[in-house]
Amino acid sequence: MGILVNGVTKRFPPGRGEALGHLAVDDATFSVPRGHLVALLGPSGSGKSTILRIIAGLEEPDAGEVYLDSELVTAHPVHRRGVGFVFQHYALFKHASVEKNIAFGLEVRKWPRPEIQRRVAELLDLIQLQGYEDRYPSQLSGGQRQRVALARALAPRPRVLLLDEPFGALDAKVRRNLATQIRQLHSEFQTTTVFVTHDQEEAIEISDEIVVINRGRVDQIGSAEEIYDHPKNKFVASFIGNVNVIEGYLVNGTLSIGPQRIPVPSRRTEVPDGEVVLLARPEDVELVEETMPGAMKGIVKEVRYRGDRYEQEIEIAGQTIRVVEIKSRGQAVVRHAGQRVGVRFTRHRLFEVEKDHEAIRAQLQSLGYIE
Ligand code: ADP
Ligand code: MG
Repeated sequence: MGILVNGVTKRFPPGRGEALGHLAVDDATFSVPRGHLVALLGPSGSGKSTILRIIAGLEEPDAGEVYLDSELVTAHPVHRRGVGFVFQHYALFKHASVEKNIAFGLEVRKWPRPEIQRRVAELLDLIQLQGYEDRYPSQLSGGQRQRVALARALAPRPRVLLLDEPFGALDAKVRRNLATQIRQLHSEFQTTTVFVTHDQEEAIEISDEIVVINRGRVDQIGSAEEIYDHPKNKFVASFIGNVNVIEGYLVNGTLSIGPQRIPVPSRRTEVPDGEVVLLARPEDVELVEETMPGAMKGIVKEVRYRGDRYEQEIEIAGQTIRVVEIKSRGQAVVRHAGQRVGVRFTRHRLFEVEKDHEAIRAQLQSLGYIE
């Protein structure tokens, strides 16, 4: 096992006027097989950085253990853990050249000069910055600086690489480029890596496996497909991928959305009667004839043509949902705003409304995952 985080809990001391303090990490357990790249995915404030800092030894857990390569390291100081780091705003040494920055950890470890030179050259080659060794950080772009930071972290051959939102400050194109480079470096070195992000697309693109973090807890662990297709709870379902969140009321196997009612097969209703939210992905909503039995009635608000698909906004009883229809087999009917349609959910899940539903929704809205 590359990394084992076992039952880790961390509470920060209470601020003025607070009784309990802040439970930043709540009994978190997950592991990363040796040589794998795992993403820790969760909204801002969910405890991702704290978990990473605990793995590194920069923060001490209140409970639980950390193992690196099966060795218990909870009591080891940072420099004895063999971890490499890259942070979002990882300041390179400003007054040192690219070469000196990458060589830093090797000089500290007293590597012989020729070996340092060989290693620096190898890394410059891998991050595609040959010829830049004498430049200073101020003479590099943001993306180039992060590549140097990555090379500096990897230089001493750490047993674990920890990346905390390393692309956070960069624009979308540079991020994609760096994501590809991280995958390449990872397949070259096979360093056990934890990649922290709040960006689900980044997590899906980069990692072998995703650990979803919600308010300090591990909510689900799995491949992107597993998490997308079989979300364990409402938070995970709405955090991964686009999803429609529709509020309704369930009584006796009938779901009411505003004045409209549809039967819900009993196997779908693992939730008790009362207020519920229905989650359905835009591609799991089917538009049919308005008169189709069992369909909800909706009105087309907007149709956007996207080349290979139509993205449509449909209003059902005052709530707007997104529907994606792939333009294949010449089947998609071109609709127009104002048209009346029937709406069926080919796949959906119902969840009980929790007290924190509004908070989760606000969080998802702020991240742009829902409107
Ligand atoms: P994330 O990286 O997912 O955004 P963090 O691990 O940085 O989350 O923070 C988790 C929670 O712990 C947040 O509510 C944050 O305010 C709190 N927190 C983090 N570090 C400290 C600290 N040193 N003192 C007090 N509270 C902290
Ligand atoms: Mg963070």
